[in-house]
Amino acid sequence: MAIKQLLKRTSGWLYLNSPVGRNQLHGAGVILMLHRVLASDQAAELPHRNELCVGPKAFEHLLVWLKKHFDCVPLMDILQPGARSERPKVALTFDDGWRDNAVNAFPLLQKYQVPASIFLSTDFIGSHQRFWWESIGETLWNSHGEQARLHLIERLQYLGRPLPTQCDDPDQQRRSLALLNFLQGLKTLSPLDLNRLTDDCPQESLPQALDWQQVHNLEASGLVRFGPHGASHAILTGLDDQRLDEELSRSRDALLHGCNQPLPVYCYPNGDNDARVRQQVARHDFPFALGTGTGIYRGAGDPLALPRFGVSQRTARNPGLLSWRIYRGARP
Ligand SMILES: [Zn+2]
Repeated sequence: MAIKQLLKRTSGWLYLNSPVGRNQLHGAGVILMLHRVLASDQAAELPHRNELCVGPKAFEHLLVWLKKHFDCVPLMDILQPGARSERPKVALTFDDGWRDNAVNAFPLLQKYQVPASIFLSTDFIGSHQRFWWESIGETLWNSHGEQARLHLIERLQYLGRPLPTQCDDPDQQRRSLALLNFLQGLKTLSPLDLNRLTDDCPQESLPQALDWQQVHNLEASGLVRFGPHGASHAILTGLDDQRLDEELSRSRDALLHGCNQPLPVYCYPNGDNDARVRQQVARHDFPFALGTGTGIYRGAGDPLALPRFGVSQRTARNPGLLSWRIYRGARP
């Protein structure tokens, strides 16, 4: 491990275990943001997956570490705290509603009795609709065969997005990093183009997202609650007033219909929000909303732009790095 990382880990750990740290975090809450838990740690290590995916070993390691340093609580215990606890609180959130949340994450949440909240992009639930970055990314990574890859490259070229030669690098790490950069650049394409490209990618045998039966089962466990993360995962700040209202209403109504106790918490796709979006979210009966800005929650600040700490495969494997970021976020 690099010396800088070691220092961060050590000072983060000291902070969590010092009277000053414990004092600063007393009554405060840490909200973590995850997306996917894959079946393999090796697969989650690659740069183009690292930010949004963790592997099962890393995830388990993270849960054990969290239980050691925090009270792992449901999200609402942080947003509407009852009794103050001695230890700082942490709540887990998952964005998008990936099927692997039920298959790979839930058994571990159950094993360690750690509650979690999952935020669903509701159009995807129970359908074969796919998330563009996953379908395009994995097709270009050659997870679905060379023919599909070449076809997609041709379509991208047609849209003026030729695949850079670095994406053919024989070194796996470098190739994956180049793919990550390329995918980030695709965010500027129109949603229509992205949907068309996604339709050109091969279908996987199983849907990417949870179905409503899985949602129901997870909710019935008492360990998981659900909230909306857009309907189509459109970036809310880019929508006109009418489409914004449609996205918010459709996602809220799907949750009201599909869950017994949906959370009064909205979760912005990509974290993007502005004053107009926040106002509309409040008008759709959500007193709270999660963004992607980092920081710890002390009950102050805008409840419609709650901060979170993102968890990547790297952080899950080295949770000491997380305590460093919490330390940075907790400093006055
Ligand atoms: Zn998302």
